[in-house]
Amino acid sequence: RTAVLLFTRDLRVHDNPALAAACEAGRVVPLYVDDPARATNGNQRAFLLDALDDLRESLRGLGGDLVVRSGDTAEQVADVWKATGADLVVCASDAGKFAAGLLERLGADAELQVTPGPAVVEPGRLLPSGGGDHYKVFTPYWRAWSQVRWRATAPEPDRLDVPDLPDSHDLAPAEPTAEELPRGGERAGLARLDEWAPDSADYAEHHDDLAGDRTSRLSPYLALGCLSARELAADPRLPEAMVRQLCWRDFHLQVLNAFPDLPDQPYKPGARTDWEADLTALEAWRTATTGIDIVDAGMRQLHAEGWMHNRARLITAGYLVKTLGLDWRDGEAHFAAHLVDYDEANNAGNWQWTAGTGNDTRPNRGFNHERQAGRFDPDGAYRRRWSRG
Ligand code: FAD
Repeated sequence: RTAVLLFTRDLRVHDNPALAAACEAGRVVPLYVDDPARATNGNQRAFLLDALDDLRESLRGLGGDLVVRSGDTAEQVADVWKATGADLVVCASDAGKFAAGLLERLGADAELQVTPGPAVVEPGRLLPSGGGDHYKVFTPYWRAWSQVRWRATAPEPDRLDVPDLPDSHDLAPAEPTAEELPRGGERAGLARLDEWAPDSADYAEHHDDLAGDRTSRLSPYLALGCLSARELAADPRLPEAMVRQLCWRDFHLQVLNAFPDLPDQPYKPGARTDWEADLTALEAWRTATTGIDIVDAGMRQLHAEGWMHNRARLITAGYLVKTLGLDWRDGEAHFAAHLVDYDEANNAGNWQWTAGTGNDTRPNRGFNHERQAGRFDPDGAYRRRWSRG
């Protein structure tokens, strides 16, 4: 058989269930489609182009190659399918409207094999004992998630059997807005993991220390699947507190899977919708000119690195929705436009959590930026690092 292997956000050759399944089927046509309908931004695109170069090199090392097309994904798959006489499409699962619509269209035109996607534990596999199609509260989800044995990894092939491959398209270059972006790709991701893992023992203690910058910075690699979340969750070098964050990632993914409107609509029925419409305040927040140094520092880090420390994300988001009373969707959109690790489920899920419209069991918890700054940047080193000028 010949399988079109459609890479999506699984841009790696290690522990890649779609790649393993396609190789098992027989001949493989590795394909990536640069689809303008898939939400991303200039910073993530720069990272993506690195990741595609890296993936192509790896596939060539296995005797294969990567066909890269641009346009509507289902149409490009159909074109490549016809050109190669393929009889199967293999693609990883994913949550959200784009992914669901794509898998439905692919399945209508061809025999489709859907393999496990970006989660450690597939959305829908764990269901709350009280009923419902997903977990709404994190702690019981974490309890159930921790019991799952996910250790099996997909074998990396020794060689690919590829037919004559059709031509690739030239991709438009990225137009990043950040100057200090990490390098994308599986090799860079594995190198970052190996650099960080031996140093991660005090993560639980220091992950909230803004200036310490002690978190893994693996998020861009996880967002595009340059690293396997399953492998990370089973990596004995990594502390449990970090694995718990991977569970948060799964949690939001299973929420998005059950509620695809998460980026646009309040998750919680009856949640606040009467946000202030203060464009001047919104613009000051966006441009890091609120005059609140801890908030402006976070926004400057976002603009410079395309990435922001989690605690700074919580502070800048809390300030926008709780202090200014502005619509979380405006904040979500600004982050989506800049984050190199932009992830539909994580971004929307965390914004809704912060706004009290999502899965926080204490939606009315208070927020005080001065207290946050005093606690998580006690000597002001983070604020100085990201001060204006
Ligand atoms: P680490 O602390 O090293 O954590 C390891 C991994 O766990 C991360 O790479 C990430 O994949 C996952 N993770 C960590 N924290 C969370 C969390 N709170 N929710 C879900 N997964 C988590 N993360 C994104 O990947 N993309 C986004 O678009 C995104 N938007 C966010 C928006 C807001 C308002 C907030 C508060 C958080 C957002 N996060 C997002 C979650 C979190 O801030 C980042 O994942 C984290 O800062 C990435 O840095 P790291 O890799 O060093 O994290």
